[in-house]
Amino acid sequence: MSLAEFQYLRPRTIEEAVGYLARHAGNLEILAGGTDLIPSMRQRLFTPGYVMDIRGIVELRGIDHDHDSTVIGALTTLTAIERNLELRRDYPVLTEAAATVASPILRNMGTLGGNICLDTRCLWYNQSLTWRQSCGFCIKKDGDLCHVAPGGTKCWAAFSADTPPALLCLGAGIEIAGPNGIRRVLLKHFYTNEGDARMKLERNELVTRVYLPRTAAGHRGAYRKLRVRGSIDYPLAGVAVSFRTNNGHIEDAQVAITAVNPAPLLVPDAHQLLSGHALDDAAAIAVGDLAANASKPLTTSALTPEYRREMVKVLAKRALLSLTK
Ligand SMILES: Cc1cc2nc3c(=O)[nH]c(=O)nc-3n(C[C@H](O)[C@H](O)[C@H](O)COP(=O)(O)OP(=O)(O)OC[C@H]3O[C@@H](n4cnc5c(N)ncnc54)[C@H](O)[C@@H]3O)c2cc1C
Ligand code: SF4
Repeated sequence: MSLAEFQYLRPRTIEEAVGYLARHAGNLEILAGGTDLIPSMRQRLFTPGYVMDIRGIVELRGIDHDHDSTVIGALTTLTAIERNLELRRDYPVLTEAAATVASPILRNMGTLGGNICLDTRCLWYNQSLTWRQSCGFCIKKDGDLCHVAPGGTKCWAAFSADTPPALLCLGAGIEIAGPNGIRRVLLKHFYTNEGDARMKLERNELVTRVYLPRTAAGHRGAYRKLRVRGSIDYPLAGVAVSFRTNNGHIEDAQVAITAVNPAPLLVPDAHQLLSGHALDDAAAIAVGDLAANASKPLTTSALTPEYRREMVKVLAKRALLSLTK
């Protein structure tokens, strides 16, 4: 499948990028690693007049610190995150999640910003134009019905990136640049849970940095995912867990899920359930039940919703118990 024609823009600064966004908002796609955008453009899911390649903006690359956070540039590759010794020591849930994305080659290209802003996925949507034409378009692109939940008006395409649940557990924030300057939001307020309008990012804005609070540094963490091909695949369910211990008791616990809703989500009440307790089988099973209750998978992917929901329980338990060793 070839690409449709577009104008290629290559800003060198955030200001220049924001200028292009202001001029071409609505007719421009941001390209970081391109590992998801380019295949989607080949499938004619996006046919922008302009593609803005932000890889020339050097200041968006790398890992740094400010007074209360570790700061990761949006263009930092997943390989750089996975291999960074300080991140591995201080934020293991993030490096573990990053290491499960796709394959080594895709992680060399793919960026943290692109992973956070990844489009939602659905069997009826991530297909070629010919396929979609023959089966009928849907709400997410060019149509007015949902094949997954017929009769409804909502798109349920699943948010299917691995690092956002880890970032949610860590209380991460993101920096966004736009025509009115810089704004910062907590990642937990960034997603909409709507499959066809996944994030609260204006068409004239871009994500520039990710902030990991120092207060979460040193938390124990693990990430487990379900996928069809172990060597290279999107998650069909994913669970991240993070906490610290004090005299054998859990503190600051967070559990987050991905790939089973149109947004990655912190599991409500997991924090309260684990706080002050020792980590044992009973606690891990109870958290698994809470995580499954927060999961609303539908027939958007290759495995059945029932199996994916059941696997959320299993993955939550495995992730938690892996941290007792
Ligand atoms: C075979 C295959 C397997 C994959 N498996 C996985 C997997 O297991 N887990 C997983 O999480 N992903 C997977 N992916 C998807 C993808 O490789 C990763 O999510 C990657 O991190 C995307 O980053 P990127 O820089 O390549 O994003 P791009 O493709 O460049 O962009 C992705 C989206 O984010 C937007 N965007 C990018 N950067 C910014 C920014 N700074 N501000 C605003 N918007 C931005 C783009 O406009 C686009 O909509 C897979 C892809 C393929 C092809
Ligand atoms: S969930 Fe429904 S509307 Fe959304 S992409 Fe799938 S079929 Fe289309």
